[in-house]
Amino acid sequence: MALLEIENLHATVGDKEILRGIDLKVGEGEIHAIMGPNGSGKSTLAYVLAGREGYEVTAGTIRFRGDNLLEMEPDERAAAGVFLAFQYPVEIPGVATMTFLKAALNAQRKARGEAELSTPDFMRKVKGAAERLNVTQDMLRRPLNAGFSGGEKKRNEILQMALLEPSLCVLDETDSGLDIDALRLVADGVNQLRSPERGMLVITHYQRLLEYIVPDFVHVLSAGKVVRSGGKELALELEARGYAEFAADAA
Ligand code: ADP
Ligand code: MG
Ligand code: MG
Repeated sequence: MALLEIENLHATVGDKEILRGIDLKVGEGEIHAIMGPNGSGKSTLAYVLAGREGYEVTAGTIRFRGDNLLEMEPDERAAAGVFLAFQYPVEIPGVATMTFLKAALNAQRKARGEAELSTPDFMRKVKGAAERLNVTQDMLRRPLNAGFSGGEKKRNEILQMALLEPSLCVLDETDSGLDIDALRLVADGVNQLRSPERGMLVITHYQRLLEYIVPDFVHVLSAGKVVRSGGKELALELEARGYAEFAADAA
């Protein structure tokens, strides 16, 4: 059974059909890249997976380890091990980053019927991961994402992902707005999470990220459909030929 199995997915946003029949299968241990021009529906796919309000699935199915993901509430999806890193991470002004991370982790543990982590256990857990991602103690004490640079926000998202140890990681344009050093840190963080049990969906507009996070499969999205699938070399072909030709191939 695939970790994630999407069949004939159609979805609308505000009565406009954005996803128009997506088929995609992600197995354990696999990294799939989703590429496509602006407006092709990449973020919509991520939001539909997260169960975001306002994104209506009108046809098709999404199964996660065989279970109907579409019947699960967003927090149930998170507890089941689906994690989304968004293109624009939210700021929560009044809440220290550390407090937020601890609450997120304990909410997941609670939903799984596990005991809360004590503060010392949590601190131990967060310390190593934070160091690897160059998330400083100062950042952990500051309110979540408030005044963080683009790179700091993305590193913080990956830290959250590392702590939650999801089975399926969905990264929506985690590379956008990052300089090369931040991109490497984020990519290293993601690569450390590669494991035989974990699947990843890496959404990106540019090929550059995929030089650091090397995918097993690449899919090209155009106007809400997967128009080509292939191996990692497809990303290079895309970079060379541009998206327009791929869309024309599919039409
Ligand atoms: P991508 O992430 O590939 O750039 P999106 O999924 O963000 O694409 O958007 C796909 C299409 O859906 C675009 O044409 C966009 O204008 C439209 N869209 C996205 N959000 C909304 C919304 N809230 N209301 C109406 N149209 C939307
Ligand atoms: Mg976009
Ligand atoms: Mg997008």
